[in-house]
Amino acid sequence: RVSPLNVIAVECVADPGARLLPAVPGLPDDVYEHDGQITKREVRALTVSSLAPEPGQLLWDVGAGSGSVGIEWSRVDPTCRAIAVEPRADRADRVERNAAALGVPELRLVRGAAPAALADLPTPDAVFVGGGVTVDGVVDACWDALRPGGRVVVNAVTLESEALVARWHAAVGGALTRLSVARAAPIGGFTGWRQAMPITQWVAVK
Ligand code: SAH
Repeated sequence: RVSPLNVIAVECVADPGARLLPAVPGLPDDVYEHDGQITKREVRALTVSSLAPEPGQLLWDVGAGSGSVGIEWSRVDPTCRAIAVEPRADRADRVERNAAALGVPELRLVRGAAPAALADLPTPDAVFVGGGVTVDGVVDACWDALRPGGRVVVNAVTLESEALVARWHAAVGGALTRLSVARAAPIGGFTGWRQAMPITQWVAVK
């Protein structure tokens, strides 16, 4: 039995304003440093849920932007690993800062554009394509690299990327879901719905 007298008090007062963040995906957008190119909280929660992380699994986060999807995948379990692929130097720098600030500094960053940057990466259990969807060969490279039984999730925002995703859905199946989020915001002295751009999400198991 441990006597209460043996209990050592540990106080953490390094940052009294620090927020305690859960491991459950869908962190508030403002915990990330971003330039507006970020998968919004509600869509991000559904995206990581569709990616279906399991302990020990590897995610490719292609078009990482702020890194939010790879970061939240990595926070689900300490053994979940992610590789973020981002060609823009300023955003890649941000991915590194966000990963460090949100407790997953081990997140691997590849500075480069898909599909070329994907060559030689280890086989993923899941792939998220959040950028470069319409770039020739990107979805093909992701699908080819995915292990059998792995999941691919593509979020399409433009008509062009939506058309591409529709073709993939027709070819290999999976589920297409339209996500539409509106947040209440001030309009003069009143409150109205500010509609975010709708997202078409394609989820398929290889
Ligand atoms: N999911 C991200 C937002 C993605 S925005 C987040 O939550 O923060 C789309 C990103 O894709 C941009 O940062 C853009 O630079 C990147 N991108 C565009 N073309 C790409 C390509 N060919 N390969 C990899 N990334 C690409």
